[in-house]
Amino acid sequence: MVKVPHAQIPGVYHRRVGDIVVTAISDGHLDGAIDVLRNISMDDAREILTDSFRPARRTAVNAFLVHSAGRTALIETGSGNYLLPTAGKVLENLKAAGVDPKNIEAVLLTHMHPDHSAGLTEMPSGRPHFPNAELVVHENEPRHWFDDAEMAKGTERAKKLYFQCAREQVAPYKDRMRLFREGEIFPGVTAIPRTGHTPGHTTFMISSGNEQLLIWGDTVHVPEVQTARPEVCMEFDTDQDAAAASRRKVFDMAATDRLLVTGMHLHFPGFAHLRRRGTGSELVPAAWEAWS
Ligand SMILES: [Zn+2]
Repeated sequence: MVKVPHAQIPGVYHRRVGDIVVTAISDGHLDGAIDVLRNISMDDAREILTDSFRPARRTAVNAFLVHSAGRTALIETGSGNYLLPTAGKVLENLKAAGVDPKNIEAVLLTHMHPDHSAGLTEMPSGRPHFPNAELVVHENEPRHWFDDAEMAKGTERAKKLYFQCAREQVAPYKDRMRLFREGEIFPGVTAIPRTGHTPGHTTFMISSGNEQLLIWGDTVHVPEVQTARPEVCMEFDTDQDAAAASRRKVFDMAATDRLLVTGMHLHFPGFAHLRRRGTGSELVPAAWEAWS
C-alpha cells in the first residue's frame, strides 16, 4: 500500500555565515485578517496579496539558533500555547534539529510579543523550557511591558496578550536577565535597535569573516505588502511612525549593502535578499544550499 504522509517535515534549515551556523526553526504559522494593517486601504492590501498568490494574510513564525564559538543561542522562542494550533512548534522542531533545550546558553529576544517570547515557559506550570539560559533583551522591553501605567492604557486584548503574557513568560528568568542597549551580545551577534514596533524592538547582525546575515525581527509582518509599501504598519505597533521609519532604515541598509536577511515573519526558512522595485522593494528568496 502507498503511504501518504500525514505530518509535515520538520521545520529546520541550516545556513552558514562564515564560521557561524544559523538554523531557522519554524514555530509554524498564523493566519489572520488583514484589518490589522494600517496606512493602506483594504482593497489595496487584498490586491497585493492576490497578486502574490496569497489568498489571505499568512504570517510565518520563525526562531533561529545561532551556533557560534562553541556556544548555542536561540533567537526567539515562538508562541508556546498562547496563539493558534498551527504555531507553537519551536520545541518540537528543536528536537528534530537534535538540540536539547538544556544546552541553550542564551535566549535572545528581538522584543516581547507572544509570538516571540511565549515559548519561554510552560504554562500553566510556570516551568522554564530553557533551564540553563540567560534571557537577553533590550532594556526598554521589560521597562515597557512591566509598567502598570502603560498596561492600564491598553485594550483588554493587549493587556492579556502583551503585558500579562510577557510578565508570566519572563518570570522564571527574572534573576538571569541580561539587558542591552546595543552592540555585541553573543559571539558574532550584534544588536542594532530599530524601535517602533515595540519600544525595544531590535535587529541582530550575525557576522563572521566577511559574511553577514541580518535577522531583522519584525521589520515586516506581511512581507508581500510591507516590502512593496513600507509605510504600512500594524495595529499592534506601539509607535507606528517610528516603526515605519525603522522599516525604511532596515530596507535601505539591506538593499544598499546587498545583505542576506531573514526575519521572524518571512515565509520559512526566510533567507532572502531585498531589492528595490519602483517605490518599494521585493524579497528574492535565497537559493537552497547543499553542504559537502
Ligand atoms: Zn512578531
